[in-house]
Amino acid sequence: MTNVPIWKLNNGIEIPSLGFGVFKVAEGEQVYDAVLEALKCGYRLIDTAAAYGNEEGVGRALKDSGLSREEVFITTKLQNKDQGFENTLAAFETSLKKLGTDYIDLYLIHWPGKDKYVESYKAMEKLYKEGRVKAIGVCNFHIPHLKNLITICQVKPVIDQIELHPLMNQKEIRYFCKQNDIQVEAWGPLMQGKGDLSAPVFQELGVKYSKSPAQVILRWHHQNDVLVIPKSVTPARIKENLDIFDFELSAEDMEKINAHNEDRRLSADPDTNMNGFL
Ligand code: NDP
Repeated sequence: MTNVPIWKLNNGIEIPSLGFGVFKVAEGEQVYDAVLEALKCGYRLIDTAAAYGNEEGVGRALKDSGLSREEVFITTKLQNKDQGFENTLAAFETSLKKLGTDYIDLYLIHWPGKDKYVESYKAMEKLYKEGRVKAIGVCNFHIPHLKNLITICQVKPVIDQIELHPLMNQKEIRYFCKQNDIQVEAWGPLMQGKGDLSAPVFQELGVKYSKSPAQVILRWHHQNDVLVIPKSVTPARIKENLDIFDFELSAEDMEKINAHNEDRRLSADPDTNMNGFL
């Protein structure tokens, strides 16, 4: 059993508000073991991508977990080199095969790039209408990308998955998405191991709430209505990151973490980098 609250996306589909990310988790035993461990601990959302090269291992772990397909929410993503209408349809089939499943819960465009995201999204709309994906969305889209997509396309993206953590709290995109009923999902929620989890604010709040700095940060995301997908290959941390639903940060403590913002990216900027980091 899992105590992760379930949220509803704008098309009515339900999604766990906390999932497990597998960026930079190696294909083969590493991803297999990590995903199996996560499912054992109670995670029911796995966030992978074609570009991570580990969809097969994710699929194998899912099969061996003893859980039914319907019990686990699977997200995968269209990689940059596969953008374009026909390419997207072909890439989807490849991901499906590697994952060993006959549908995807959430299919995302991984990076806006320059000029192909609209046709790629139209192919995803086709997959959605055919019932082959339960929901479609985007990653790393800024407000102009989202406005463009909403104007041109028929199916509103359910999610925008963006770099979001205490150093880069993305207030404007969060506001825009709230107004437009698009769920924000944070990647790099723990600053990808590049930020300072032992900064005084996280340490102090950790002591106050008897939680680790990582748990304090994940709880901050949750109370900001941001879906999180922390990654870890360390069993104790996999368990720790799930254990954030038995405490609540006060409004004052939420503000202390908000004040940590420096609008500092730890990775590529979708406005200036057309290829992302993939
Ligand atoms: P995270 O912010 O999740 O950080 C992962 C790092 O934090 C790892 O080094 C991990 O170490 C460490 N860590 C995890 N838990 C703890 C803990 N409790 N205490 C201390 N350190 C901890 O970064 P990610 O980049 O992995 O982002 C999460 C997910 O978001 C990805 O896995 C991927 O699914 C998705 N993503 C999407 C992107 C996109 O463009 N759409 C881009 C990047 C990520 P260790 O593993 O050694 O335990």
